[in-house]
Amino acid sequence: MTRLRDPYSLFGLRNYPMNIALKSEDFLARLASGLDARGLVTDPADMAPHLVDWRGLFRGEALAVVRPRTAQEVAGVVAACAQAGVGIVPQGGNTSLAGGSVPAGEGPQIVLSLSRLNAIRTVDKVGMLIEVEAGCVLQTAQQAAAAAGRLLPVSLGAEGTAEIGGIISTNAGGINVLRYGMTRQLVLGLEVVLPDGTLINGLRHLRKDNAGYDWKQVFIGSEGTLGLVTAAVLRLVPAPRHKVTALLAVPSPEAALSLLARAQEEIGDQVSAFELICGLSFDLLARNCDLKAPLAAAPWVVLMQADSCLSGIEEAMESVLAGALEAGEATDGVVAASETQARQLWALREHITEAEQREGPSVKHDVSVPIADMPAFLAEAEAEVARALPGCRANMFGHLGDGNIHFNVLIADGTDKAAVNRTVHDVVAKYAGSISAEHGIGRYRAPELAHYKPQAELALMRRLKGALDPQGLMNRGKVLG
Ligand SMILES: Cc1cc2nc3c(=O)[nH]c(=O)nc-3n(C[C@H](O)[C@H](O)[C@H](O)COP(=O)(O)OP(=O)(O)OC[C@H]3O[C@@H](n4cnc5c(N)ncnc54)[C@H](O)[C@@H]3O)c2cc1C
Repeated sequence: MTRLRDPYSLFGLRNYPMNIALKSEDFLARLASGLDARGLVTDPADMAPHLVDWRGLFRGEALAVVRPRTAQEVAGVVAACAQAGVGIVPQGGNTSLAGGSVPAGEGPQIVLSLSRLNAIRTVDKVGMLIEVEAGCVLQTAQQAAAAAGRLLPVSLGAEGTAEIGGIISTNAGGINVLRYGMTRQLVLGLEVVLPDGTLINGLRHLRKDNAGYDWKQVFIGSEGTLGLVTAAVLRLVPAPRHKVTALLAVPSPEAALSLLARAQEEIGDQVSAFELICGLSFDLLARNCDLKAPLAAAPWVVLMQADSCLSGIEEAMESVLAGALEAGEATDGVVAASETQARQLWALREHITEAEQREGPSVKHDVSVPIADMPAFLAEAEAEVARALPGCRANMFGHLGDGNIHFNVLIADGTDKAAVNRTVHDVVAKYAGSISAEHGIGRYRAPELAHYKPQAELALMRRLKGALDPQGLMNRGKVLG
C-alpha cells in the first residue's frame, strides 16, 4: 500500500474551506496548481463532449474536466475533492451504455478523465500478462498483446474508444465471454485511488495470491462508485492461429441450444462465440442497412466461432454442421472460407443496432437468464410484449452461449418506456435473471435496480459504499442512485 505523504499539499489545499459552492474558482485554481497546462479543462466547448453520454440520452454539469497524467496526480485531485466535498465522476472512453460516465445527482462535481494515463508498462510473453494504465484504449492494449503473439481476449464493438479503466469498472463482456469469461476473470492486479485520495498499489504479476481478501474484486464492475482504477495487470492467452466462423439457420432457440451442446462436445472449449439472432433482426438489416444473410429465410440464426492454436478446427466445425443439419438442429448453414467472409458474417451481427435505430424508437434491455431457460424466457417475454404493449415488437439478439440476450422492444410513438422496461424485466425476474448482464446500471438502470434487487443485497451494497466512500463523493446518482 502506498499512501501519498501529503496529497493535500500538492494542491495547496491544507486549510481549504469546505464551502466549495461559494469558492469554486479558488478550488479550481488550486487544482490547476498541481496539474500541467492541459490538466484542467473549464472551457465549455472543450468540456461539452465529456458531459453527454454516447447515446445522447444523458447530460450533466461539472465544475471542470480534470485530466491528470499520473496516479499520484489522480490521488492529489481526489484528496482535494474529498477535502472540499466535491463529487467525482470517473470517465474513460465515455462509451457507457448506462449513462454511467457523465455527471448526475446533486452538488458540485468534476469529471475526472483517466485518458492521459495511457502507458503500456509491460507485456510479459512468458508470464502471459500485460500491465497497463487505466486510460489505455482497449484496442491499443490488444495490439500490444498481439505483437507479442498473445491475445487480450476482451473484445467489444467500442474497443477503439473504450479504455482499460472503463472496461474494468464495468466488468465488460463482449464476444469472447463464452471461452474466456468476463473482464473480471482476466484481472490479476489493480492499482486504485480510494475516495479519500489513498493510492493503493496491488499490481502483482501473480497467478496465485490467496494472501488476504481479494479486494480488487470490489472495484471491478463497481462503475466508479467506490474508487478509481489507475492501472491494471491483465491475463493474456495464446493467440489462436486458426479461426472458423459459421452462420446457421435454426428453427428455434431450443434447436440453437442443442447445436451449442453439440459444438461444445465436438469442439470443446474452443467455441469462442455463439450468438443467436431473431428473424426480425434480418428484416431490419435488409430494409435499413442493405445487408442480407447468405441463408434461406429462418425464424432464428446462429453465428458461431471457434478459435484454436492447432489446425483441424475447420474440419471439426464442418462435422458439427453436418451433424446439426442431419439432426434438424439447423436447416441451412455456411462456413466462412476466408477472413473477409468471416468479417462479412460478423458485420451482420454488428449492424443490428444501427438497423434497429434506423427503423425507429426502441427500448433496449441487456438481460441474462440461466442458459437452459433462454428458450422459455424468449417465448414468454415476446408473448408478454405482444399482450401488454400493442404495436410493439421484440427484436432479440445476443450472446446465447452466455445466457445473455439483448431484448430490444421497437416501440410505437407515445409508448410509455417505463412500462416497457417493467414488462420485460418482470419476466426476467420470474426466471431469476439479471436486468443488466453486461452494460451495468449507471444512471439509466438505477431505478430498476432499486426495484428488482433484493433488499438484503441492496443493504450490503450500501454498507460497502458507506465504508469506502462515506462522503458519497464517487459517481453520485449512479448504481445505488
Ligand atoms: C458500440 C458499443 C458497443 C458496446 N459493446 C459492449 C459489449 O459488447 N459488452 C459490454 O460489456 N459493453 C459494451 N459496450 C459498453 C461500453 O463500451 C463498456 O461499458 C466499456 O467497458 C466502457 O468503457 P469506457 O472506457 O468507455 O468507460 P466509460 O464509459 O467512460 O465509463 C463507464 C463506467 O466506468 C466508470 N469508469 C470509467 N473509467 C474508470 C476508472 N478508471 N476508474 C473507475 N471508474 C471508471 C465510469 O464512471 C462509468 O461508470 C458497448 C458500447 C458501445 C458504444
